[in-house]
Order: sequence, then C-alpha cells, then structure tokens
Amino acid sequence: MIEQTPRLRAQSVLNRFEFALMHHRYDEAAAMFSEECYWRDLVAFTWNILTLEGRAAISDMLASQLGFIRPRNFKVLEPDPIVEPDGSELFWIRFETELGWGRGLLRLRGGRIFVLLTTLDALRGYEEKAGRSRPLGARHGASAPGPSWKEERDREEIRLGHFDQPYVVIIGGGQGAIALGARLRQLDVPTIIVERNERPGDSWRNRYKSLCLHDPVWYDHLPYIDFPKTWPVFSPKDKIADWLEFYVKVMELSYWSRSTALRARWSAENKRWTVTVARPEGEVILKPRHLVFATGMSGKPRIPAFPGRERFKGEQHHSAHHPGPDAYRNKRVVVIGSNNSAHDICAALFHAGADVAMVQRSPTTVVRSDTLMELGLGPLYSEEALERGVTTEKADLLSAAVPYRIMHRQQIPIYETIRTRDADLYEDLERAGFLLDWGADGSGLAMKYLRRGSGYYIDVGASQLIIDGAIKLLRGQVVELTRHGVRLDSGHEEPADVVIYATGYGSMNGFVADVIDQETADRVGKVWGLGSDTPGDPGPWEGEQRNMWKPTQQEALWFQGGNLHQARHYSQFLALQLKARFEDLSTPVYGLQPSHHLR
Ligand SMILES: Cc1cc2nc3c(=O)[nH]c(=O)nc-3n(C[C@H](O)[C@H](O)[C@H](O)COP(=O)(O)OP(=O)(O)OC[C@H]3O[C@@H](n4cnc5c(N)ncnc54)[C@H](O)[C@@H]3O)c2cc1C
Repeated sequence: MIEQTPRLRAQSVLNRFEFALMHHRYDEAAAMFSEECYWRDLVAFTWNILTLEGRAAISDMLASQLGFIRPRNFKVLEPDPIVEPDGSELFWIRFETELGWGRGLLRLRGGRIFVLLTTLDALRGYEEKAGRSRPLGARHGASAPGPSWKEERDREEIRLGHFDQPYVVIIGGGQGAIALGARLRQLDVPTIIVERNERPGDSWRNRYKSLCLHDPVWYDHLPYIDFPKTWPVFSPKDKIADWLEFYVKVMELSYWSRSTALRARWSAENKRWTVTVARPEGEVILKPRHLVFATGMSGKPRIPAFPGRERFKGEQHHSAHHPGPDAYRNKRVVVIGSNNSAHDICAALFHAGADVAMVQRSPTTVVRSDTLMELGLGPLYSEEALERGVTTEKADLLSAAVPYRIMHRQQIPIYETIRTRDADLYEDLERAGFLLDWGADGSGLAMKYLRRGSGYYIDVGASQLIIDGAIKLLRGQVVELTRHGVRLDSGHEEPADVVIYATGYGSMNGFVADVIDQETADRVGKVWGLGSDTPGDPGPWEGEQRNMWKPTQQEALWFQGGNLHQARHYSQFLALQLKARFEDLSTPVYGLQPSHHLR
C-alpha cells in the first residue's frame, strides 16, 4: 500500500471538493466540512469579505456563486502542513477561478475541512507587471525616443483630474489611502488621493511628539516596499511620516495635498460621483466612478459633552490635537481617558515637568510591549518568524485564516500566560488603584482592537509611573468641568490648567455625513467592529469588520484603513474589487451586509 503523505491526503480532499464544485453538488461539497466549520472568503468566491459559518451557509453561497466563479485546479502547495495546537493541519493552497488566481489555506481536522481561507490574488490578464513582466522603463531601439519618463509623468499629473477623470477618488491621504493608491497604480486604475494636509505623512506628524508606533516593524510594511533591515522596531511617528512621503513619490501616486473634499454627490443615473475639492488655486470638481473614504478610524475625535465645558477657564483639547508636552511645564493637566493615547500623553507630560492626573473611567487592558511582541505578534511577525520562513505575506494569510468567531479561543490562552508572566505588574497596578480588565471574555487586546478599536494600553513605561504615583490616578466618571478643574462623581474636584480628552474617535461614517449627507451615512451604518455584542461592539454578529474594504449599502462607496497591517493586506482585496469594476468584469456580490447601527 502506498503511504499517504499529509500532502497527498490534503490533495485528495481538495480533488473531491473540486469535483463536487464542478458538478454543482453544493451539499456534497458542504458535507466535506466538519460540523463546526468556517469558510473565510476574501473576494475570490463572494466578491465580498465574508466568513461563512456552518455547512448550510456554505451550501447557500455555493448555490449562488458557483455559476459565476467556476473554481478549479485546487492544489496543495507545500509538503508539510503547519500543525495547530488542536492537532488540525494547515495546508497552503492555490486555485483558479473564471476570472483570476487564488491562494488560501486549508485546515483539516479529522479528515474534514474545519477552516477554508480563499483569497483572490490576481485577475487573469490584469496581473501586476512585476518580476519577469516588470516594465522595461527605457525604450531601446533605433526609432526616435519619444517623451521621457519624467515628461510622461508630468503630463499625467497635469491631465488627471482636469482633462481626464480618475476612476477612483480616495478621500484622505494617510497610510490607508497610500497603500490602496499604490496597488491601484500597479493595476493601472486612474486614481487621485485627496488630502487636506500639507504633506503625505502629516496625519502622523501632527500627533503628539512622543508617539512611536506600538506595532513592530515586521507588522508595518507597506505593499511592494519593505522597510530596510536597519529600520527601528518601533518607528517614531515623524520617521513613519517621512517614509509615507517618500513612498508616495517613488510609487508615483497622484496625491493632491492641501486639498479638502468638501462635498460628494452620487448620481444613480450616471453612476458617477461629483466630488467638490477645495485646492489652493480654487475648487475643482472630480467625477469618479468610485469613492473611497480613507479618512481614518482614528480621525474623528470624540469629545464627550460634559457639562461646564464652556465655563472652564483653562485650555482644553482632544488627544488628536495635542501638540506634545513642551508648553505644559509646571501646569496642572488632567487627561481624561486611560488607553494608549492617555498613557503616552501623561508620561510625556510628567517627563516635561507637568503635574499630571489621569482620569480612568472604565477598566483598561494593559500588556507590556515586550511581552506582547513575544507572545502576541512574535510567532508571525518578528525576525524569528522570518528565519522560520514566515514572510510578512505568509503571516498576513495565516492571520486571515483564523475566523473571527473563534479567534478569541486562540487569544485567551495567550492572555492567561501574560497574566501569569507579568503578575508583578498587574498586582502593582491594582494596588495603585488602576482598574484592569482582559476583555469581555478574557481574550485581551487584539480582540478589543478588532471589536471596538480601543480599551487598551501597550505598556512602554507609563504603568510604572502610575504605580509610583508620578502620574496621579483618579477613578470615576466626570460629572462636569468647573471654572478651574474637573469634578468627578465621587465629588472630588481636580484642579486643572489644561484638560486633554483622550476619549477616542467616532466611526468613519461620520465623515460620510460630513462630505455626502446624513442619510447616506445612516444607510451605510457603523464602520468597524465584528458584532460581538461586547462593550463598544454591539451585535448582531457580522463576523467581519463592518463595512471595511468591501461593498457597502451605498453603491460605489468604500472604506479603507485600519492599522498598517490591515492597510497593507486588505488594500489588495479592495484594489482587486475596484480593478474588476474598472475592467467591466462580472462581480456578483454575495451576502452584502445590512447595516444595524448608525454610528
Ligand atoms: C495615538 C495613536 C497611535 C497609533 N499607533 C498605531 C501603531 O502603532 N500601529 C498602527 O498600525 N496603527 C496605529 N494607530 C492607528 C492607525 O494606524 C493610525 O491612526 C493611522 O494614522 C491610520 O491611517 P489612515 O490612513 O487610516 O488614517 P489617517 O492617518 O487618520 O489619515 C486620514 C486622513 O484623512 C484626511 N482627511 C479627512 N477628511 C478629509 C477631507 N474631507 N478631505 C481631505 N482629507 C481629509 C486627514 O487629514 C488625514 O490625513 C494609532 C493611532 C493613534 C491615534
């Protein structure tokens, strides 16, 4: 008897699966999944970003999509699977569809499919001109040379938006827009990025001066150009800003800075947007087919309506507008909030000689940066991961292959380890009166980020300042601002010259209300969150980030953003969705999500 290698075993599952798909036997294909099962699809089958949970959902999707998608040539790519802690085996796979090339991961448990990840990698006939098919650049030959690269580029910049209309306009020019713009450029989709700031990178430059990225370099690469090997692990904010500015130039993006998108109107008749942009030389009207909001999930400051704000005699600002500590030496500063920004700002203020108090209104998840790097991100994004052959590209797919419904199961043990390992820190913090939590189900920081985008501090030193009393900790709800301070529900009034609201940010559909109208913002609904029904992430369950990188309830309106990892990885799928429409390919969207929350 021929011994079945893991690869042969997996290939035989894929062969049977493919056979069932080819013959439109939906239920037979679905029955190859285990009873608890997940199929996460990034655009390849659904023209959406969707996780199907259970056999019935899988069968329904196949019944709707197979006629268009026509998947084939499923292949296992590597001989050895990755063996998961539960004994299931994870295989790299590739496949083809009617329109493109796909990649993914197949997780087998007891011979059945537990998780399937399918992603669209490229559209056939519209692949990026990379590697062997990269452009020549020079024009060799005996004929007249024609315009130079520079002349062509200048001409394009002069024409686009004035004589030629872009197919896509991206509002906002931070890392999200820049990553998407780069991908659209490689796919030859005419795109203009509209940014109100002076220079690319300013959304980082304008943040408080002590800010360094909280995520490590391996997690932060932009598409196409990795950071150099000498780049620091945690990039200072002005350094990342300069990198973004350089990237815009070398990736040849049409980037309109000092340009504010004032208004956008959709014409259902003409299938075009009319976008009014204020530029230094006057207003310009753009008429794109698609509009992307890349205005930042940390872009719309949220300031609670505390009574007495108008009465307060001192200075008050949101953390988004905090200039840094230099002007506040010897001042009494009250920072409202107890997450990352609050901690960073308090620490910098203390070191600059301010008298600083933090108001903690609800519990915070705290994790030491070193510990988080080692136990949280390290297995996939680190020098050690690279040495094991886990490139950033592979790491992105491995992360994507964990369905959100069960991600917490993977996270909870990590946080149990963290709790034990750093027990000293947590005991000291609690002794100092700091309220800790570990997320609604003990799944910690990463799940909080995905669910609500807040509620945590990655400790780079401020926790010790709280323990030592250098940062004064006040616990409770803010009742009002008085003329000279902040009053809490305990009755305590903390005197203040300056009040800083480190109170987070509103949903990105708030920008839609500003630029389009409230009705469209409401129809699209809240952006971000999984629907986990945990604090800050109301249900019902959606199983994907609401409205991000996928079709929305408003035709031709999209959202791009997230942290650098998400901006990099998901821009691929948003770019492919836009490219397919640009080329008039058939893109039947399956499972367009309803909206449940206004903001
Ligand atoms: C304090 C802090 C620390 C963070 N640390 C990290 C980290 O370590 N790692 C990480 O990956 N992420 C981090 N993030 C989260 C996130 O990566 C950043 O917020 C990042 O800037 C988001 O990029 P973006 O392109 O989505 O949005 P932004 O960078 O916010 O860019 C949006 C842009 O839209 C522009 N804009 C808005 N409205 C208009 C309009 N009408 N017309 C024209 N332009 C407009 C704004 O000027 C802005 O430049 C952090 C966020 C904060 C607040």
